[in-house]
Amino acid sequence: MKKNQISLDSFLTGKTLNTKKDDKTKNTQQSEKKQKIEQDKSQPKTDKKSYKRDTPPEDEISNNSQIEKKDKIKNSQQTSNNTENSILFRDIVDVLLKVETCKGENSKDAVKELLSNLFVNIINNYSADLPKIYYFLSSKVGPEYISPEFGIGEGILEKIVGKVIGISDKILKEKLIETGDLGTVASEGKKNVKTMDAFSNFIKVGPQKKLTISQIMKVYKNVAVKKGKSSQDEKIKLLCDLMFKADKDEIKFLVRSLQKSLKIGASFKTILSAFSRAITKILKNKTDEKEIYRILLASKNQLSDEDIFFGHIIELIQKKTNFSELIDLCQIRCGIPVNPQLARPTTGIKVIFDRFADTPFTCEYKYDGFRGQIHYYNKKTQIFSRNLEDMTETYPDVVEFINNFIKESAEKNNKQLNSFILDCEMVAYDKKNDKILPFQQLTTRSRKNVDLATITIHVCMFCFDILLLNDEILINKTLRERRKYLYSTFTESQYIQFAKHLDSGDAQEMENFMTESVSSGCEGLIVKAIDKNSEYMPGQRNFNWLKLKKDYLDTSLGDSIDLVIIGAQYGKGKRKGLYGSFLLACYNDDNETYETVTMTGGGLKDAELDELYNKLKEIILPQAPSNYKLGKAEPDVIFEAKIVIEVKTADLSISPIYTAGYDLTPDHRGVSLRFPRFQRIREDKKPHEACTSEEIVKLYNNQASINKNNKSFVSNDIDDLY
Ligand code: ATP
Repeated sequence: MKKNQISLDSFLTGKTLNTKKDDKTKNTQQSEKKQKIEQDKSQPKTDKKSYKRDTPPEDEISNNSQIEKKDKIKNSQQTSNNTENSILFRDIVDVLLKVETCKGENSKDAVKELLSNLFVNIINNYSADLPKIYYFLSSKVGPEYISPEFGIGEGILEKIVGKVIGISDKILKEKLIETGDLGTVASEGKKNVKTMDAFSNFIKVGPQKKLTISQIMKVYKNVAVKKGKSSQDEKIKLLCDLMFKADKDEIKFLVRSLQKSLKIGASFKTILSAFSRAITKILKNKTDEKEIYRILLASKNQLSDEDIFFGHIIELIQKKTNFSELIDLCQIRCGIPVNPQLARPTTGIKVIFDRFADTPFTCEYKYDGFRGQIHYYNKKTQIFSRNLEDMTETYPDVVEFINNFIKESAEKNNKQLNSFILDCEMVAYDKKNDKILPFQQLTTRSRKNVDLATITIHVCMFCFDILLLNDEILINKTLRERRKYLYSTFTESQYIQFAKHLDSGDAQEMENFMTESVSSGCEGLIVKAIDKNSEYMPGQRNFNWLKLKKDYLDTSLGDSIDLVIIGAQYGKGKRKGLYGSFLLACYNDDNETYETVTMTGGGLKDAELDELYNKLKEIILPQAPSNYKLGKAEPDVIFEAKIVIEVKTADLSISPIYTAGYDLTPDHRGVSLRFPRFQRIREDKKPHEACTSEEIVKLYNNQASINKNNKSFVSNDIDDLY
């Protein structure tokens, strides 16, 4: 065997040759597995019927490598015998190809119909595949909170495709410019590949088993968990092997899923509504499609582990019981992050009085930091971010003072604390002067391998809600009741405090409270219903929580806007050698596209320009992908949609250049920002969490001057996601 060549065995099983590292990985896996078991034991009392994960989390995958190895050997002797009862990937691809061709007026419904039929087939014949197909369609390897990213950049993916279809980097780049889609290049190239061993000496020749979704997800998980020095090579080998086995259509969707967009115009919204239709078909219209959608969304917002979520769905379908039971089955539980409730922007106190005319409300300081959800169970603390990632390792200091907080609270209040979930904002804090520091300070803390001894930027947690206490789920109680639980159970300390609040409907008192909040370093207020309509609503952004930011009082917008950087122009003069201005896009969550809103370089400091340059130069694309709607914008460089930034803007106008919301405006012209200014990078937001096209159009509609002329393009009610 050549020196750098990986053995067929280790290649096929995804195992490295480094046995020391294997031992270490095994130990970590075992301890993580133990934690997982402990977590299962800690389920709330109200959730006795709890569905247990039936598929191993990705960290158990390599433990299964022996089994996989046997499977592979078996597979090499078989052709299309599907022994594991997993749907053939080709069957899924056939549907995706049809979805891709849906265009025109009724295309949304046609896409829904096609996907719903696929789901019906899966539910009836391959129920264990349900989460896998969901992950594949959403370009994920598993639930957000326990699943790493693929860790495959665009450049590496191009190399893999080049190798699989046997063309040089140069030709691949040319073809990419021609087609604008790496998936299409791979597919075209595959047509000409005759033998599978032509490009690699470690691929087994002979009849191959057709790919199933199970096999694909296994490879994806193996790819995602690879870490360390040689991981890149191992990832490449695993993916090359997979793509060698794929046919010309399959490879297209494999490539696109690794790029995190299948480009079939099916967003999360579409997938979930197609799934609602599938369930309606199976239940034979016992509950209507819209109601099923509501139940699915509410359940998924409570329980962000899709393995468990889909498990419960299958369980209900098989038992033929009332589908609305899903919400109870998917109750929140410790160890699995809950989708946080969010707030709607407002432009002034008057709007708040209108909204809460007959509803008692409370005002809280709007702290400016990172959302932190603290879970405590089995004597263990975990911190989850706004987008459901496990941040525990990033904040060892927070874990330490939460442990003290638990101890002191239990002693002072003479109460046993077994479990809780708290909703908080983590803020940079000056310990000496008891002062809140600007948000930017927090972003300078490193995210990985944080050593307690070297922490210089301290954090204070401001708790504003409690969702679970000693196994009792509290989300259906009123905010007034939840606060009582919070205050009577816990004792504040310097690093964990309760969010300051004012329970008054007096305009003058509110104004004073707003001024106080701003002078203490906060952004403004969050105004919340406190009795009626005040249950905690996971994942919802509705009128029960309103945010009032100081910068937007009585302006037309009420909020800043989060947008994705998809391109840039090279800098001139002082900015030479960097990017001078950035092409920003919003996300169209109806058809998975990015629509341009503005080109801006305003408000950026030198250090921020440097930081953006260093981040963006790593994600340059040779060509705008087909899901970028550039309009007449002409950036010098195009980037992968990855970095979200927050901008402030004077107002919005209709533009002949940009495309934001163009299919919602009567003459199909986009909306753009006027005088946008950079505020910060939103590390805590993913591109699909940026402002949507519909929201941009709504902000445009809401502008006072436009409303006077009554020129609104979309209905003001975008509450209804369905
Ligand atoms: P923003 O850019 O305003 O932070 P966002 O999109 O991150 O917006 P929003 O729901 O719009 O989230 O604003 C609410 C955010 O404000 C919460 O996610 C939370 O992180 C933060 N926050 C600060 N103080 C509070 C509080 N007292 N109650 C609820 N959320 C608070």
